[in-house]
Amino acid sequence: MLRPLDHLADFPAIPAGWAYLDTAATAQKPAPVIAAIDRAYAETYATVHRGVYQRSADMTIAYEAARERVARFIGAGSASEIVFTRGATESINLVAQSWGQAHLKRGDRILLSMLEHHSNIVPWQLLRDRIGIEIDVAPLTADGRIDLDAAQAMLTPAHKLVALAHVSNVLGSVLDVRRAAELAHAVGAKLLLDGCQAVPRLPVDVAAIGADFYAFSAHKLYGPTGFGVLWARPDILDAMPPWHGGGAMIDRVTFERTTYAPPPARFEAGTPHIVGALGLHAAIDYVEGIGLEAIHAHETALVRATRDALSAINSLTLFGPEDSAGIVSFGIEGVHPHDIGTILDEGHVAIRAGHHCAQPLMAHLGVDATARASFGVYNGEADVAALVKGIERVTRIFG
Ligand code: PMP
Repeated sequence: MLRPLDHLADFPAIPAGWAYLDTAATAQKPAPVIAAIDRAYAETYATVHRGVYQRSADMTIAYEAARERVARFIGAGSASEIVFTRGATESINLVAQSWGQAHLKRGDRILLSMLEHHSNIVPWQLLRDRIGIEIDVAPLTADGRIDLDAAQAMLTPAHKLVALAHVSNVLGSVLDVRRAAELAHAVGAKLLLDGCQAVPRLPVDVAAIGADFYAFSAHKLYGPTGFGVLWARPDILDAMPPWHGGGAMIDRVTFERTTYAPPPARFEAGTPHIVGALGLHAAIDYVEGIGLEAIHAHETALVRATRDALSAINSLTLFGPEDSAGIVSFGIEGVHPHDIGTILDEGHVAIRAGHHCAQPLMAHLGVDATARASFGVYNGEADVAALVKGIERVTRIFG
């Protein structure tokens, strides 16, 4: 069960004996993703959507096939509901600046939570400072989940949007997304889910959830950096004004007046990250080849083994719930997380130490930073053992 899902050999950048435990920051790339990117640049490369020559037409088919693949992967009704972006950060900024600017007005409220990543906080603050919306923050339960009872009690008809992480990048806590959709919709608010840490770890079906917006990045899903997805319900996308202006997002341009393309092209100004789309396609094929259920079960078992082993260390505090998805955050009394990370690195164990772009959560936990181990399909029991051995060394060094 706790072997690395027999896929470690697919990852050429993970040398033998290196425990890579920073997948929540970015996943390593399997050979089929690297090959798809390499093949695109080395053999089939051309621009998309504009060329009259065969190579460009073929590349356009491949690029749009990636959009179809993403739609199927997350249960979207149609590929036209999939907007390609540079990543989750850009996806959320797009919603804030297009949908938010057009549909929210002074005095409207939005609800976030205490555990959000800065990319699901700052875009809303920028909008607040521009148009005068109010931001409310749902608290967490004692074990580090978004407290949906409290969220429900906070929601009013003035709330137009609830924007929450599907899986916390620090605590690994998994949101009850169906309930989040129900309680947002009960007051007429839309639900945006930040799915960055969910899509690599759980099966996701946006239609079954009943979400309105869903954002994620390709690089955390074993795909390339600089590429991401915004899914939105088609009626919502249709009513969203353009955001970035330029080529590819227009219908007709004159100096007097410009009309715009329908979604998703309306939100994709400029030459896109063509090869990013092909890389994401290969990444989705890869993870679905293993199966998201299997990945989830595997990572949950690794989390359990890690928490069991670390909970025996007296000076160590574990953050987050028992059933975290693939992510374990912890602190050791009297030791800065950066020192934990540095000592672990000496033993060839790579973890993340810092605020994880979630400073309000750090303040809530009463710490400046945490140490975080996060798992992927290439991890197994040997990585957990290396982590535990490294932590024991930390506790010896710091007495
Ligand atoms: N949300 C969450 C929960 C994340 O973990 C991250 C990446 N750390 C982001 C948003 C932002 O993703 P990106 O930097 O790829 O845009």
